[in-house]
Amino acid sequence: MRHWKEIPLFKDVTEEEWNDWRWQWGNRIEDVEVLAQVAGLSEEAVEGVKLALSRVRMAITPYYASLIEYGNQSCPIRLQAVPRAQEATVLPWEAFDPLAEDEDSPVPGITHRYPDRVLFLVTEQCSMYCRHCTRRRVVGVTDRVASTEKIDMGIEYVKSNKQIRDVLISGGDPLTLSDDRIEYVVSRLREIPHVEIIRIGSRAPVVMPQRITKELASMLAKYHPVYLNTHFNHPREVTPESARACAILADAGIPLGNQSVLLRGINNCPRVMKELVHGLLKIRVRPYYIYQCDLTWGLEHFRTTVAEGLEIMEYLRGHTTGLAVPTYVIDAPGGGGKIPIAPNYLVSFGSNTVVVRNYEGVISAYREPEYDLSDNRDEDGKCKLCGGDHKDAVGVAGLIGGKQVSLAPRDTERFKRRRVHGQEGLDEDASRDK
Ligand SMILES: *Cc1c(COP(=O)(O)O)cnc(C)c1O
Ligand code: SF4
Repeated sequence: MRHWKEIPLFKDVTEEEWNDWRWQWGNRIEDVEVLAQVAGLSEEAVEGVKLALSRVRMAITPYYASLIEYGNQSCPIRLQAVPRAQEATVLPWEAFDPLAEDEDSPVPGITHRYPDRVLFLVTEQCSMYCRHCTRRRVVGVTDRVASTEKIDMGIEYVKSNKQIRDVLISGGDPLTLSDDRIEYVVSRLREIPHVEIIRIGSRAPVVMPQRITKELASMLAKYHPVYLNTHFNHPREVTPESARACAILADAGIPLGNQSVLLRGINNCPRVMKELVHGLLKIRVRPYYIYQCDLTWGLEHFRTTVAEGLEIMEYLRGHTTGLAVPTYVIDAPGGGGKIPIAPNYLVSFGSNTVVVRNYEGVISAYREPEYDLSDNRDEDGKCKLCGGDHKDAVGVAGLIGGKQVSLAPRDTERFKRRRVHGQEGLDEDASRDK
């Protein structure tokens, strides 16, 4: 890796400037000619950048640009930062908003998908625009932060919905805002009694680690419990600078997690992923999710097969520290939320016997206890531990709890026939609360 002083464009930059996030922000590379000098772009690559820029803008912090290996067209840092011609290709199965975040948005900036938590988008800007960004429909369109009015609407929504106990502040990158602006959002959320935890999603530790200052961390620490999830995709991003940023946050008592995206040519290799997760634990970042790349327009060249993801999971579980193993998820197209995908470890079932296999292929029988499950319930059928009946859950948990006997799509021919013949009752039978 080059020291930034060796890059002609930055040779006169002082140490103080380089370490100041305002300088990094103000000197982001947005021009293809400048980028060509710093990264060593082929003529074809320059044309690719120009074509891609007709779709989504580019901005790269000098710090992240300095990690690009000069002249190496397949450098994993370059592939995340430098647009390629393929971005202009949109396929029929790709979507503008594949996760239907806008449809599940009760007020601007809030996506309320799960029962007890919301995603709160407080800005559309990022310090570095990842080429694989799933929110490219909004992110980077303008360097715009949400107005106070819009932020207040989001806070009001959280305040008036008591079931929300977890708010995930994201964007864009919320840490591109000033400390004061961030404090405004976090402190107002902290005033709401039912908000138990506040989470921040930010790529700053990876692409602009200078942003993580002691002042920022001690401000956030006033509003604990605050968690932060970041987005490392490759072991080469784990640098002394990013390690320092993570240490400041961890020292302030902010638990750190990481959400990687599985990306073709970047990290779709079990050994690269293993090196990444080990590197993360060394800087006190707990691998949380690996995402299958979403079906956002212009990202086909980044996507991998699901089999590759499963191969990575097979390579990690058991082979290394459990803390290093993230959950591999597909964020369901259409807005179903994150769905975990894992290799099968359950081999079979017999009466009171579960057959499982481990990472080495050892197959074992686990003998279940022989006891009457009704012992768990009191005379009224209530759970002896919680006093409830376990029928408050929705979805599959609701089926298991006995709330319903089936979950069925309502728009099938079969259900239409029932309606025509006045037999809706059957339909209700299957789903009504018992
Ligand atoms: C990812 C996500 C969350 C948080 O999910 P966790 O699994 O709790 O980390 C919440 N809301 C939306 C819309 C999300 O996409
Ligand atoms: S930091 Fe996140 S929101 Fe910003 S461009 Fe990258 S993936 Fe998109």
